[in-house]
Amino acid sequence: MAVEFLDVALSELTTLKVGGTAQRVVRVTTEAELVELVAECRNIGSPLLILGGGSNVVCSDSEFDGTVIVVATTGMQWSEDRVRVSAGEDWEEFIVDALDRGFGEFTPLSGIPGTVGATPIQNIGAYGVEISDLIESVSVLDRETLCQSEMQPDQCAFAYRSSIFKMQPDQYVVLAVTYRLTPTVEIEVKYPQLATVLNVSVGDRVPAAVVRDSVIKLRGSKSMVVDISDADSNSTGSFFINPTVERGVAPVGCPRYPLRSGDPREDSHVKLSAAWLIENSGVTKGFTLHPEKSTIRVSRNHSLAIANLDSGSAEEVLELASHMRQKVFQQFGIELEVEPILVNCALSDLLR
Ligand SMILES: Cc1cc2nc3c(=O)[nH]c(=O)nc-3n(C[C@H](O)[C@H](O)[C@H](O)COP(=O)(O)OP(=O)(O)OC[C@H]3O[C@@H](n4cnc5c(N)ncnc54)[C@H](O)[C@@H]3O)c2cc1C
Repeated sequence: MAVEFLDVALSELTTLKVGGTAQRVVRVTTEAELVELVAECRNIGSPLLILGGGSNVVCSDSEFDGTVIVVATTGMQWSEDRVRVSAGEDWEEFIVDALDRGFGEFTPLSGIPGTVGATPIQNIGAYGVEISDLIESVSVLDRETLCQSEMQPDQCAFAYRSSIFKMQPDQYVVLAVTYRLTPTVEIEVKYPQLATVLNVSVGDRVPAAVVRDSVIKLRGSKSMVVDISDADSNSTGSFFINPTVERGVAPVGCPRYPLRSGDPREDSHVKLSAAWLIENSGVTKGFTLHPEKSTIRVSRNHSLAIANLDSGSAEEVLELASHMRQKVFQQFGIELEVEPILVNCALSDLLR
């Protein structure tokens, strides 16, 4: 087995740059190695953390008492109408490859960091597209039975920033994702902010390559693209998801978005802007709880992100996140839900 043992703290493997050491960190580059290592961990009872690009996790400062597997498996099998992509492939590189081959429908999801294997975990989404729209199936390894299977979308419980993989985090390892391919040169612009940047109307069709460039530019202006020259992008992206509430509960003035068509709550509920709720609870961009000493703050470019400007800790991230959630709850009675996966750590209890 040609696995690589890494001598690094989790802070070096995550975009938020927090997290302590682990008993062992192993990087695997083939599916066979991945399957073998998961089996070994199960057999010896070693707690397991699967990591891709580390862009959607907050790891505790204390030691992870088990094995961290960094999934770096590669391989893409293209056919006329689908492609099977290994979990460790870089998501952005896949989008570029697909675009070059005439499949531009992934471009609204450009600039989201991380690996292909993580795309179904929280059903990544941006600018009116969710990856579940484009997934044909997900190849998984069951961590308990060690059986491999191909899960169809209706078995994945995909929802807004959620899936069975996020809800049952210790059950599956994603080995590969198969995406449907439809030749797409132009794509429909579904998101008002993107339409404004493109100088078109929602519903217009625009070349996919142009959409990609505009999405990356727009995301860059909000520090939503990982960039080593931009400390505000040391984050997990959005720290909270946009809450879904009954229409009557929505605060006056808060931007609201319709639920996806087909959602059973479509007529009675709306999705609210978590960024607006945070700002209007008194927590502004750049806010920090400890101005003299902490480098953890609300991103200066996006009130929904928590950024680690230098060498902050997970504890400080959780303290700030707890404060933000408390402020929104006090002001609006709405409980924000954390988007990234918290590894061996938690926000403090909400004071009711
Ligand atoms: C600047 C920035 C912008 C972002 N913008 C967006 C956005 O617009 N939309 C969006 O949806 N997300 C966004 N994110 C969040 C994040 O990039 C995505 O969720 C991404 O898919 C995570 O990929 P990853 O490989 O880094 O996953 P990781 O952070 O490594 O892992 C995330 C979770 O998935 C699990 N996991 C990872 N790989 C596997 C696997 N092969 N099998 C089983 N479990 C696995 C991990 O155990 C963990 O629980 C953003 C993050 C950042 C830092």
